[in-house]
Amino acid sequence: MATLREPARNIPVMDEAEVVVVGGGPAGFVAAVAAARNGADVLLVERYGCLGGLATGGLVIFLDAYGDKGEIIIQGLARETWDRLKPYGGESARRGTTKISPMFDPEIFKFVALEMIEEAKVRMLLHCWAAGVVKEGEDIVAVVVESKAGRRAIRGQRFIDCTGDGDLADWSGAPFVEAEHPWGLGLPGRLANVDGERVWAFAQEDPERWSRLRRQNTEQGGIGFPTLGWRPEVIWLNNRVPGYPLNVHDLTNAEIMCRKGLMKTLFFVRKNVPGCENAFLMDTASQMGTRESRLITGELTITQDNLAEARRQSIGLVDRRARDGRPVAIPYGSLVPQRVDNLLVAGRSISVSHDMLDTVRLIPHCMVSGQGAGTAAAMSCRQGVAPRTLDLASLQSRLAEQGVNLGPDAQPPMPEQPAPQQT
Ligand SMILES: Cc1cc2nc3c(=O)[nH]c(=O)nc-3n(C[C@H](O)[C@H](O)[C@H](O)COP(=O)(O)OP(=O)(O)OC[C@H]3O[C@@H](n4cnc5c(N)ncnc54)[C@H](O)[C@@H]3O)c2cc1C
Repeated sequence: MATLREPARNIPVMDEAEVVVVGGGPAGFVAAVAAARNGADVLLVERYGCLGGLATGGLVIFLDAYGDKGEIIIQGLARETWDRLKPYGGESARRGTTKISPMFDPEIFKFVALEMIEEAKVRMLLHCWAAGVVKEGEDIVAVVVESKAGRRAIRGQRFIDCTGDGDLADWSGAPFVEAEHPWGLGLPGRLANVDGERVWAFAQEDPERWSRLRRQNTEQGGIGFPTLGWRPEVIWLNNRVPGYPLNVHDLTNAEIMCRKGLMKTLFFVRKNVPGCENAFLMDTASQMGTRESRLITGELTITQDNLAEARRQSIGLVDRRARDGRPVAIPYGSLVPQRVDNLLVAGRSISVSHDMLDTVRLIPHCMVSGQGAGTAAAMSCRQGVAPRTLDLASLQSRLAEQGVNLGPDAQPPMPEQPAPQQT
């Protein structure tokens, strides 16, 4: 590829904070709230106009999974977020499963996230795209952002990369691997004005016919098929399309393919699925869905072989079972990138092997890593130590005090855990 030399220029410093969080998705908004509740002055930078990342802009309206068979494993801020959706009528149980995986209203999720951010007194910059970092030695001193105001810098003492793609890790020279998820990208949509009872009854009555219709829809260029519904008159269309999220041509093609394909699905289901005769495409995600891209190489990478060490370093359990049948723990070391001293990473780009990513990338899981990273950033700032050398036992004690379920193998003596709650 040909190159051009961009002239050097001075960048105005527009703001500064103790903790700068980049990305306002499930990991990022929770990281910001956690850092602020632990006493830090926090600035959250988000490229779009709302909080929630793929959970809202990406229309991934399914919090999978808090637990199973009445036992809730994921606690802390992830649990609080779910609980705060309830009084607004913003969530409903997923039907036909023992898994505790609520569906939710993305507009109420945006609202609840905003409430939590405002209560914690986190400062925010929306419509502000991080584009680089300035480093001194092994520290990031500022993140460079682009907005309608132009190119600006934001100084900070600790940075948390919640971009989902490890953008800050890449720019700051932290090691990472790139991996492609077998399901590629996805751009969900929602069908409204459907008779959900008839749709699901039809699907259950004749599963073979349902699968045949699904296949025919795909053969005719349709993308996505009725997946789940959280209201009787609204159906979620999840999907998988090829493409790599760090390739702008792939993103463009996937957008075009999905937008045309979702329309084709609409026309197909109107004609072929009882209950969808009067359906309309209520909305499509404004943000292309990424399942996997950069995974940082942290102080500890979660693999099948080091689950015991991961549990010892736990900053929170998630409801995914390892081979031994016990829940996987997210270890502190998976949030701490090698080489860069004042950076933490949370969300789907933490340090995890490709084959284990699905155990830690779901929305509640990203909130768990967000809470761990935010709390660690605030504590490391207060104590004047690098996140890498933060005392693990004090971090775990703080997280346990704040309601996180660390699991029985975590290092410090645990305060008494509340009895599992029934739903
Ligand atoms: C199609 C699809 C279906 C899925 N289904 C489910 C499901 O059913 N249940 C489930 O729990 N999970 C599901 N997932 C996984 C889940 O949605 C993601 O793994 C999770 O949202 C990741 O959270 P995150 O905070 O790490 O990243 P994101 O949700 O991607 O949030 C990242 C945020 O950072 C912002 N950002 C990125 N780069 C920059 C930048 N340079 N400057 C400023 N801001 C930036 C983005 O705008 C975004 O708000 C699905 C994913 C996909 C793609």
